[in-house]
Amino acid sequence: MLNGKVALVTGSTSGIGLGIAHALAREGATVVLNGLGNASDIEATRAQLAADTGADIRFIGADLSSADAVASLIAQIETDLGRLDILVNNAGVQHVAPIEDFPPEKWDLILALNLGAAFHTIRLAVPGMKQRGWGRIINVASAHALVASPFKSAYVASKHGLLGLTKTVALELAEHGVTANAICPGYVMTPLVQKQIPDTAKARGISEEEVIRDVLLASQATKRFVEVDELGALAAFLCSDGAASITGTALPVDGGWTAH
Ligand code: NAD
Repeated sequence: MLNGKVALVTGSTSGIGLGIAHALAREGATVVLNGLGNASDIEATRAQLAADTGADIRFIGADLSSADAVASLIAQIETDLGRLDILVNNAGVQHVAPIEDFPPEKWDLILALNLGAAFHTIRLAVPGMKQRGWGRIINVASAHALVASPFKSAYVASKHGLLGLTKTVALELAEHGVTANAICPGYVMTPLVQKQIPDTAKARGISEEEVIRDVLLASQATKRFVEVDELGALAAFLCSDGAASITGTALPVDGGWTAH
């Protein structure tokens, strides 16, 4: 279905991004992985994905909290592969602390990566998409693009902002064959969630087991974590011709969380 298309999935060395990369590669897309981490681990991930799917899988390891690094990443893709058809803005970080203790440098990093990087990838990828009359922009937002939780000021602000960016871009590109949508996952057990459990326990004065039961899964009506494959399946659908009229949306995949 996606043969001949080139996809970039930012932050795809682990978690949700890697799941989406799998799904797009299975559909035949050439996939550029991006993210931070140990070089030999990343090469093993890249090689495994290529072996599993038979797709052409590349890795470009830019730190996307820097606008210059984003520009180099997009330029390298266009030089090496000649096009960028599917842009999945997924790289993101979290920090959990009460507002009065929230470190300003964490605020700056979260806004730069979760929101700023998406602005820069989109502004740089759109000219080629418009020229070819086809494109798919998928922003991995969060249920926190729709509702808030305490102690996550920067993250919630960045994800609400990312949804606003998604809607704006969707309207600008609607007559050019380019769609833009936000996937809004509930909790998925990835390194990002594992890392916040101790800080959430500290901020709320409860145990880590209570964080999982009473905080993370409290509003998720299914009482289970969302699976990365479920998010990959939605991303692949959004890239299909059947999804050509789906644009400017927030698509919750949250086990019923935001239905409350
Ligand atoms: P993760 O920690 O497993 O993956 C994050 C990815 O981003 C990794 O590949 C990491 O290397 C990369 N990354 C981190 N800093 C980077 C930087 N400066 N430049 C480039 N890459 C960088 O996390 P995840 O849970 O898979 O999160 C992926 C996205 O999904 C994030 O945007 C997150 O906000 C969102 N999300 C996650 C959940 C969840 O419950 N896990 C829920 C809703 C939304």
